[in-house]
Amino acid sequence: MIIVARKDVTADQLDHIRERVEAAGLRTHVSRGETRTIIGCIGDEARLAHIPMLSIPGVRSVHPIMRPYKLAARDFSADRTTKVQVGDHAFGGAACLVAAGPCSVESQEMMLQTGRAVAGAGATLLRGGAFKPRTSPYSFDGLKDEGLRILSKVRSETGLPVVTEVLDPRHAERVAGHVDMLQIGTRNMQNFALLKEVGQLQRPVLLKRGMAASLKDLLLAAEYVMSRGNMQVVLCERGIRTFGAETRNTFDLAAIPWLKLETHLPVVADPSHAGGRRDLVAPISFAAVAAGADGLVVEVHPDPETALSDGEQSLTFAEFNGMMSDLKAFAEAAGRTLHRPQAGA
Ligand code: PEP
Ligand code: MN
Repeated sequence: MIIVARKDVTADQLDHIRERVEAAGLRTHVSRGETRTIIGCIGDEARLAHIPMLSIPGVRSVHPIMRPYKLAARDFSADRTTKVQVGDHAFGGAACLVAAGPCSVESQEMMLQTGRAVAGAGATLLRGGAFKPRTSPYSFDGLKDEGLRILSKVRSETGLPVVTEVLDPRHAERVAGHVDMLQIGTRNMQNFALLKEVGQLQRPVLLKRGMAASLKDLLLAAEYVMSRGNMQVVLCERGIRTFGAETRNTFDLAAIPWLKLETHLPVVADPSHAGGRRDLVAPISFAAVAAGADGLVVEVHPDPETALSDGEQSLTFAEFNGMMSDLKAFAEAAGRTLHRPQAGA
């Protein structure tokens, strides 16, 4: 249930409303927007049936939430989109943010080179996997702790915030100590132990859609993280498995506007894992941004031909730069700006 407070609600009245709800055994979450304040009630709504809510001072209206997800539901937030701050920028604001970098962290030198190149082209985050979930146990699975050390170093040298994947609940705190944002990959979207663990950390989470997950499953996975106290979740559409074999995955474009209607969480797209081919990355990115995505996650490599993973879908620096220039018009058409560094900066 959500309780919408009157415009002139006082702090004491808000406290009193929360006390009444909590005394009935539910938890509350207050969301203050520019024009309204909402008190979300989490738990068994039937326990509130005996309270004449509308007679409590400060209450304007009361609405049941019939969705299986509560905290992630759009009605639960006073704002249309929740801002998830990473470094100096926020997902869900006026600017469309781009995270870019290689699939895997391969060396300090290549991460530094990539960080500088993508920042110059307008990326606001550097991505790179230190722990890699590989379909084959014989494939390169990341530099692990050495990769984290490299990410920390590049982060401090370039000033770019960093996002990396966490695979194991036992590593979550350690990974969070080195980076600004934790990625949960497609293969782990329903790893509930991992979701609960990152839910206890105060680090933004990039939650990628499971390759066979419905959008409802994705929102329930976000709910796991949020219900543990971490509300900083960004959802990522990265393509799903279908009968189509021509692209690596099938990019679900409709997922973007659907999620934007259904949740207040920011939504980004990963065109690289969706298409699986370098020449599909720009068109998928343009479509995603035009459809309202709050950002993108793009694989970029200094020399894709020698990449240890996902070289065929990684852009060169020049290709990424070109795509970012062309992306600006699509962002503007969707009423957004594209973060671009000042010339000469
Ligand atoms: C990745 O970002 O490199 C990755 C493994 O992504 P996904 O989990 O979407 O396959
Ligand atoms: Mn990859």
